[in-house]
Amino acid sequence: MVLSNTSLDYDAIVIGAGIAGLYQLYRLRELGMTVRVFERGTGVGGTWYWNRYPGARFDSESYSYAYSFSQELLDEWDWSEHFAGQPETLRYLQYVADKFDLLKDIRFSSEVKSAVYDDDSRSWTVQLEDGSAHRSRFLITAVGNLSEPTLPRIEGIESFGGQSFHTSRWPHTPVKFTGKRVAVIGTGATGVQTIQEVSKDVGHLTVFQLRPEWCAPLHNSKIGPDEMKDIRAGYREMFDLCAQTPAGFVHDADPRNTFDVTEEERYEFWEELYASRGFGIWQGNFEDISTDPRANKAISDFLADKIRARVNDPTVAEKLIPKDHGFGTRRVPLETNYYESYNQDNVELIDINETPILRITRNGILTTDREFEFDFIIYATGFDAVVGSFNKIDIHGVERRSLKDQWKEELATFLGMLVNGFPNMFMITGPHAWTGNHPRSIEYGVEWITDVIRFMDERGLTRAEASVEAQRGWHEIVLEHDRDLLRSQVDSWFTGININLEGRQTRMTTQYSGGQPLFRRRCEEVAENGYEELNLK
Ligand code: NAP
Repeated sequence: MVLSNTSLDYDAIVIGAGIAGLYQLYRLRELGMTVRVFERGTGVGGTWYWNRYPGARFDSESYSYAYSFSQELLDEWDWSEHFAGQPETLRYLQYVADKFDLLKDIRFSSEVKSAVYDDDSRSWTVQLEDGSAHRSRFLITAVGNLSEPTLPRIEGIESFGGQSFHTSRWPHTPVKFTGKRVAVIGTGATGVQTIQEVSKDVGHLTVFQLRPEWCAPLHNSKIGPDEMKDIRAGYREMFDLCAQTPAGFVHDADPRNTFDVTEEERYEFWEELYASRGFGIWQGNFEDISTDPRANKAISDFLADKIRARVNDPTVAEKLIPKDHGFGTRRVPLETNYYESYNQDNVELIDINETPILRITRNGILTTDREFEFDFIIYATGFDAVVGSFNKIDIHGVERRSLKDQWKEELATFLGMLVNGFPNMFMITGPHAWTGNHPRSIEYGVEWITDVIRFMDERGLTRAEASVEAQRGWHEIVLEHDRDLLRSQVDSWFTGININLEGRQTRMTTQYSGGQPLFRRRCEEVAENGYEELNLK
């Protein structure tokens, strides 16, 4: 291809072999480019490679989460459940890698340490942990939004004598909890999945909760051959729907406002949503629950009553009801008998606001109340979200500008895909991109990026950099959309808060929240204008 330059090792280097990296490799290869994917794991899968904790599974319908780009793939792959478990998802991604012969361009066990741009040659030099250096015209990050795990800042973690794991760094060999004393710290989407699964056969489970979430039922079930046939027949229609909904799910917000309908209609609607699969109750609810505090309180009260009805001990139920944020203002965990787990004799909930953890000891966990003894401690304490996977790599752009320093001053990108000062670097679902049902955001991002590169290739252009004005304009749009959302007033990874990291205690806007249709429109406008805003040279 025109872009090939004999002094470069590759036309493009992609960091990460998860859903985004695999698809980007596939698309760039179609352009005839030489591509190398560097992946720190020993296999493909990204999120689904790392997150092997018990009970890990999709919260999006399996079929709406799958790749949509290949009819053949859609025809061949059968999902066994509406919300597939991690092993099945990983098998799917391995199948995709094999089917499209992607493995030959992926180097595993290869952690990228740094990436440095050189403007004379308009190229990137990527250095790996083993010291080797690799040069390419384009650098494409497919590093994920939630891939840098964070352990809690609790004294004594190293002193624990039993086994402990962060959920995202789970061993590849099965861990047996039968009859064991297990602790789980963290009750986000991961903690909820872990707790409900581990509680099934554990000797004793103690959950250390800082803040409860508003969980909603997943309603998973098996998919039989006939149902799979129907799903397959409806694929096109379903993907068309996902391309139009704000978050890329099969659920679309109800345009009515909460108080437009009678109380009876409202509760009937909410009962229906509570009884239906997946994110409907979050994404398919009345539109104003995310902006109007009164509407948000009404749905939160509805859900609080559900928790009270499902948890036998009223004191435990109250502890499981969030008091400091409304429904949907943080990521809603989807659950299966999560609340009922607390009705078991062998499951105990410790509110660490009442009795804070003082330290991890050799035997277990010491709180202000007492010392608990454990065989296992599971840290479901989340991630250095969105920027963490970028900060882990020493990325330098023009005049050796550091991305980390630039983002410390102000987190700003153009469409979440480019950064001024970092030419020829494209991010798949980077900060301030539209992200929702991730594969849907990923496919759109990959295709947009591929189109830019194709455009450049056809014209013999070798440098793309978002203009200052374009970036500023996008930044304003991102902030504007966030302004009216209740979630922007709440601490969560959406707002960049991570109590375990220094300097991550002030809220910021990490994602574009204007919804998919507006995001697509803006991206398409940039393309229609011949990518003027990218200063192509
Ligand atoms: P998370 O939502 O950030 O939750 C971390 C949990 O750990 C929170 O309950 C947090 O409490 C607690 N925690 C953190 N530091 C602590 C400390 N020092 N002491 C005690 N508790 C502490 O992380 P996550 O559950 O891993 O989920 C992250 C995201 O991954 C989700 O929001 C979702 O987007 C994604 N995810 C997706 C799926 C799926 O699709 N199937 C499944 C799991 C996760 P506070 O909140 O009070 O700080």
